[in-house]
Amino acid sequence: MMNTPFLSAQGAAILVSRHGLSRCIRGMHDAIAHDFKRWEQFEKSARLATHSAEGVIEIMPISDGQTYGFKYVNGHPNNHRHELPTVMAFGVLASVQTGLPQFISELTLITALRTAATSVLAASHLNKPGARSMALIGNGAQSEFQAVAFHEALGIDRFYLYDTDLFATERLTHHLNEVGFHVTPCKSVAQAVARADVITTATAAKTRAHVVTRDMLRPGVHINAIGGDCPGKTELHPDVLGNARVFVEYEPQTRIEGDIQQMPSDFPVIQLWEVLTGFALGRTHADQITVFDSVGFALEDFSALRYMHELAEEKGELEYLSLIPHMSNPKDLYGLISKAECA
Ligand code: NAD
Repeated sequence: MMNTPFLSAQGAAILVSRHGLSRCIRGMHDAIAHDFKRWEQFEKSARLATHSAEGVIEIMPISDGQTYGFKYVNGHPNNHRHELPTVMAFGVLASVQTGLPQFISELTLITALRTAATSVLAASHLNKPGARSMALIGNGAQSEFQAVAFHEALGIDRFYLYDTDLFATERLTHHLNEVGFHVTPCKSVAQAVARADVITTATAAKTRAHVVTRDMLRPGVHINAIGGDCPGKTELHPDVLGNARVFVEYEPQTRIEGDIQQMPSDFPVIQLWEVLTGFALGRTHADQITVFDSVGFALEDFSALRYMHELAEEKGELEYLSLIPHMSNPKDLYGLISKAECA
């Protein structure tokens, strides 16, 4: 049998713990920035989504001509009733030349790191200078990673938290206190965003929610909206978008899935790669409201997989799966069965 390098859920957690969460997010940030800057080299498509009443299952493919990658990911906001996370994922890198899988990995944990890394990458170009405080609306699985990433990369040192689930805010408060962050649990979204320079919305509800409305916002705030990522699943009121400069990952996908699904099809947006390569400006004045309408794009997972593959190899954390049969005569697939019978 041929052995495919594999990073398990436990292996990824050990690797992140030993290498350091901040260091991993920083490494992923650099890998994602590098790949966004070579945007034109990628064969891109909007992800393929299969919807049901409870959630969505998506396949996210991408290729740079040398390496092909895809992620399997779901979004089931009521999964906590089954003691499962809202978002679960795994992914693969494969050789374009032969199609041979080269790396298979868990991506549930890694998605949280890559999303935080992408959020920070966008915010570093869109935040107003001197931003120090952040509201975290939605205190679930993604939230600690967002806080750590914004603290490390952008010096955010004051966090205002709100979730409809008090226990979620309690858990986040406890974890952020443990690492010494200044945290204020709040009683409403309006209270949480009132003093924030940056707002991350990471709520999960399969509904056209308007969690953040225009009247709540201070001039110059940056909104990192990551939870509106599916048709019929939004977080921002259209007036927020209509009064902001809006940035997206891959426009064809975000028009379907992002908060801008509520806006006319010619509503102006700027793709992140355009800002990173100097084709477009980020924030243009201090009082402007900026929105990163993030849905998660395949390129980010491609970069994260490449980064984790290298790290796991270097640190000896890879396991091996017998995924692809080895055949001395590649045409004799049938012979595998008789060989197995003799074994
Ligand atoms: P989660 O289920 O662990 O947490 C979501 C939290 O939102 C829950 O604690 C819930 O109580 C809270 N919530 C729901 N409605 C709310 C409201 N109106 N106001 C305040 N809080 C509310 O989910 P998660 O893994 O943290 O993911 C959060 C969201 O981010 C999901 O919608 C997910 O699909 C999305 N996501 C996006 C990306 C991306 O790349 N853009 C990546 C990962 C996850």
